[in-house]
Amino acid sequence: MTLQSPLIRMMDVNKYYGAFHALKSVSISVRRGEKIVLCGPSGSGKSTLIRCINHLEAIQSGTIEVDGTKLEGTTAIDTIRREVGMVFQSFNLFPHKTVLENCIIAPMRVRGVSRMDAETTAMRLLERVKIANQAQKYPAQLSGGQQQRVAIARALCMEPVAMLFDEPTSALDPEMVKEVLDTMISLANDGMTMICVTHEMGFARQVADRVIFMSDGEIVEENSPKDFFSAPQHKRTRAFLGEILAHH
Ligand code: ADP
Repeated sequence: MTLQSPLIRMMDVNKYYGAFHALKSVSISVRRGEKIVLCGPSGSGKSTLIRCINHLEAIQSGTIEVDGTKLEGTTAIDTIRREVGMVFQSFNLFPHKTVLENCIIAPMRVRGVSRMDAETTAMRLLERVKIANQAQKYPAQLSGGQQQRVAIARALCMEPVAMLFDEPTSALDPEMVKEVLDTMISLANDGMTMICVTHEMGFARQVADRVIFMSDGEIVEENSPKDFFSAPQHKRTRAFLGEILAHH
């Protein structure tokens, strides 16, 4: 494993839901520190793609590697789940646990960290997402934007090598989108490797090293944000960008 080899690599991945072909020979390679924005119409397979990376979905053929570990066998799957943080559209916090408890469960149970160390790390990361003063509250006592920042801090508590974001702002009221995007921008600036499924094209322009466009289970086009937005190559990409820009 050299610094140059990809941190996340999918090769020729095929995924079916029953007879439905959700990912069609998908290959991507993400370098350490790279920020990818994954976009495309609803139902094109974006969420499926990132869920396959930490094996929330099984694949039928192809290979997936994270940090040199091939995703096969339960040990490898557990390793990768520990190493790759995931943030969902719907936060997925434990409702009956406080913010702080939400952040310390996995490090204690999965990594075997002591409660004291887990709490110290959690408070530092809650500070970083500017929500440490809410540590003793329950998720329902927080706004959506605050809950999503807790979800980001919770993922960071596992000290992931990469973070996957699945439409992290699309369930939020508009006034809360910025606080979550700002948190993601700050993570990106600190060098985190990120794959973000998002329709926030301003975020893509500002942060992405590469934009990948999917349609019907395939990667149709990938490019730097500048070229992706100014000179989309494929007519499906142009149609998608037309739609997105019309709605923003
Ligand atoms: P996107 O994230 O781009 O909106 P998804 O990856 O969620 O797309 O879904 C891709 C396609 O796979 C959609 O047609 C969706 O209906 C289908 N799909 C997703 N999850 C399942 C599932 N658990 N069972 C059956 N079909 C699914």
